[in-house]
Amino acid sequence: MIPGAFSYHRPASVADAVKLLSDLGEDARPLAGGHSLVPMMKFRLASPAHLVDLHGIAGLKGIRRDGDNLVIGAMTTQHDLLASEDVARSVPILHEAALLIADPQVRYRGTIGGNVANGDPGNDMPALMLTLGATYRLEGANGAREVQAADFYQGAYFTALEPGEILTAVSVPLPAAGHGYAYEKLKRKVGDYATAAAAVVLTLAGGKVASCAIGLTNVHETPLLAADAAKAVIGTSLDAAALKNAAAAAQAIMSPAADARGPVEYRKHVGGIMVARALQRAASRAR
Ligand SMILES: Cc1cc2nc3c(=O)[nH]c(=O)nc-3n(C[C@H](O)[C@H](O)[C@H](O)COP(=O)(O)OP(=O)(O)OC[C@H]3O[C@@H](n4cnc5c(N)ncnc54)[C@H](O)[C@@H]3O)c2cc1C
Repeated sequence: MIPGAFSYHRPASVADAVKLLSDLGEDARPLAGGHSLVPMMKFRLASPAHLVDLHGIAGLKGIRRDGDNLVIGAMTTQHDLLASEDVARSVPILHEAALLIADPQVRYRGTIGGNVANGDPGNDMPALMLTLGATYRLEGANGAREVQAADFYQGAYFTALEPGEILTAVSVPLPAAGHGYAYEKLKRKVGDYATAAAAVVLTLAGGKVASCAIGLTNVHETPLLAADAAKAVIGTSLDAAALKNAAAAAQAIMSPAADARGPVEYRKHVGGIMVARALQRAASRAR
């Protein structure tokens, strides 16, 4: 319950935050909503000597259009995502998934940047970002760079973020008009991380799947893009055989941890079910 002592910094610009993080080195951590980092500090699983609070930086919050992309500032909260009509209309899977994250109080604080940068396989947003083909903007002492979400996750709590860098925005390509979508999450209770979850975005043409992307949450040490599972349904009308093939292809890349959510085989089994359910619900929504 009691974190270790730390110094608190509140930079007013990305440049100042980056400089602080570079100067202070490994003993410093960015602080966003604090709803993953502070619990870790209270258990002393993390004991940073410096917290660099990003709340004072104007411009890190907000949702805007940039051509065919929705650009979401890193400090945009899950509550902000839920309140955005543009998100609900243009990338509705983000709205659906945000409602399945944590609880109202956590969603008032937790940010999209913190959720995707955290590196915990239990977080829900990362697999969505793989599914949507999102890009992360990272800013550091050497300038800014864009990294595909698909290239960002390297292992549990290991990401492409370099020391001193912060993630400033997430850019989400708008899915095609009339697309179908679903985020299916199996969890033990409200506010729990997924036993297994699947994100699906697809389009239909003439009753057959024309395009499809499938992401998986908490069934591996990183979020996964299930490319073979998506391939298994393209060109099909999502008949029982296609759903079975997709579930099997997704299960083939799962390697969940055995924990209080169940043994490995159970989590793979329900992971396959989440894939099939998400595909069916996405198809029922596609126009
Ligand atoms: C009770 C409870 C239930 C929860 N349930 C869920 C759930 O079901 N699904 C889910 O996805 N999450 C869940 N969460 C986590 C919640 O969504 C967190 O808010 C989120 O994981 C982290 O976002 P944050 O803004 O709070 O980040 P913080 O806790 O402030 O930071 C998390 C990590 O990311 C780093 N970081 C933060 N922002 C940046 C940035 N811009 N650039 C670089 N590094 C950064 C920090 O240094 C830290 O290492 C839950 C949390 C709680 C307390």
